[in-house]
Amino acid sequence: MAKILVLGAGYAGMMAATSLERNNEPFTLINKHPYHYLTTLLHEAAGGRKEPMQYTVKIADVLRKPTSEFVQDEVVSIDREKKVVHCKGGDQAYDYLIITMGWISEYFGIPGMKENSMSIQNLDTAVEIRNHIEREFQTYLEDNDDRHLRIVVGGAGLTGIELVGELCDWIPKLCIQYNIPKSKVDLQNIEAMPSILPMVSESLREVAARALTEKGARLRTNTKLMKVDPGVVHLDGDETVEAGTIIWTGGVRANPILTEAGFTVDRRGRAKVNEFLQSVDDSNIFIGGDCAWAEEDGRPLPPTAQFATQMGPVLANNVTSFMHGQPMQPFQGHNLGTLASLGSEIGVGQMMSIPVKGVIGGLAKEVSKIKYLWQLGGVRLAVDKTNEVVHL
Ligand SMILES: Cc1cc2nc3c(=O)[nH]c(=O)nc-3n(C[C@H](O)[C@H](O)[C@H](O)COP(=O)(O)OP(=O)(O)OC[C@H]3O[C@@H](n4cnc5c(N)ncnc54)[C@H](O)[C@@H]3O)c2cc1C
Repeated sequence: MAKILVLGAGYAGMMAATSLERNNEPFTLINKHPYHYLTTLLHEAAGGRKEPMQYTVKIADVLRKPTSEFVQDEVVSIDREKKVVHCKGGDQAYDYLIITMGWISEYFGIPGMKENSMSIQNLDTAVEIRNHIEREFQTYLEDNDDRHLRIVVGGAGLTGIELVGELCDWIPKLCIQYNIPKSKVDLQNIEAMPSILPMVSESLREVAARALTEKGARLRTNTKLMKVDPGVVHLDGDETVEAGTIIWTGGVRANPILTEAGFTVDRRGRAKVNEFLQSVDDSNIFIGGDCAWAEEDGRPLPPTAQFATQMGPVLANNVTSFMHGQPMQPFQGHNLGTLASLGSEIGVGQMMSIPVKGVIGGLAKEVSKIKYLWQLGGVRLAVDKTNEVVHL
C-alpha cells in the first residue's frame, strides 16, 4: 500500500490529516510535539493570559482512526531521490508527502537580532518570553535597575501588535504582584514602516494605536532597528535603547528544510506549488501553509493560518486523487478578513470587509477561536476546549 507522510501538525497539517481520515486514507503524521499548538494564540501564551498547555490540542484527541499513525519526531531533512524523510529518531520512507512544517523568524540580516532577541516561534519560545519577563520583574526588586522593566517589541504587524496588546494587560498585574509602580515600566513597539497593522484600514489602525497608547505602550513607527547587542537595540539616528527584554516579530520565512531539500523557493524560502498545491519540482509532494509559495492571480498568497487551514483539506483530497488517478481540485483561498486582538477584551479587524473594533472586535476574535476548534475536531473539540482557550 502506498505510504503517505504528513510532516508538521500545524493548521495545514492537522486539517490535511483529518481530511485524509475522512477519505479513508491511511497516513503517518510526524510532528515535534504530541500536541498541535494554536500558533495564532501564542502571543497570549507569551503574555501570560492563560497556562501554556491550554493553547494546545492533543493530536491523539483529534486523530481517531486506527489506520492513522502519529510519530513524535523532528524532521531533519528530506531525500527526494530516495523518497525518505530523515528524522532525529530514524528514517521514514514515503510514496507521497505532504509538507506543512510552518515557518521560522526572518531577521532581514539585522546584525545581532537573531542572537540577542527572543521571538514567538512556537509554544516553547512563547513560554520563554513569559518566564523571562517575569524574571526581569523579580530581578528589578533585587537591583532596582530600570532596564529590567523596559520591553522592546520589534515589528508592528499582527504578531507584534497582538503581543503588545497582551503585555499591556499583563504588566499591571505583574506590577501589583511585585509591588512595582506601573509608571516604571516602559513598553516600546518599534516599527520601520509609517504605520502599524498594514493589513487593516487606516481608520482601524488609528483605533488600535489609540487603544494601545492609552493602555501605556509607546508605538514608535518610522523607526528602524539597525543592530542589536545583548540588552541594547540600536535605532537609526544613533539612538540606543537598553532593555532587559527584546522581542522580534518583524517577519517570517518558511521552514529551511525546503530550501535544503532543493525545492524551487521564493525569497522567503517557500516552495513553489501549482494550483493543486503540488510541488512544481516533484509531483508526489504536496506543500501547504506557510511552506507553500502558492499564487492566485499571479500574486503570492500571504502566510496566514486562514489560508493554511483552507489548504489542509485540498492537500489531502489532491493527494488522494493523484494516487488514484482522479482529477485534482485547484486551491482557491478565501480571505475572510483579519482580526487583531488588543489584549483580552478588545480588538480591531475586518470580517468579510466589514470593519469591527473595540469589544465587538475582541468578541469576534474569541468567536474565531471556537470556529477553528469546530473545524478541526467538530462539536466535541469545540465544547472541550472552548473554556480553556476562549476569554468569556
Ligand atoms: C502570535 C501570532 C499570531 C498570529 N495571528 C494570526 C491570525 O490572527 N490570523 C492568521 O491567519 N494568521 C495568524 N498568524 C500566522 C499563522 O499562525 C501562520 O500563518 C500559521 O501558523 C501557519 O500554519 P502552518 O500550518 O503552515 O504552520 P504552523 O502552524 O507553524 O505549524 C507547523 C508545525 O510543524 C511542526 N514542525 C516544524 N518543524 C518541524 C520539524 N522539523 N519536524 C517536525 N515537526 C515540525 C511545528 O511544531 C508545528 O506543529 C499568527 C502568527 C503568530 C505567531
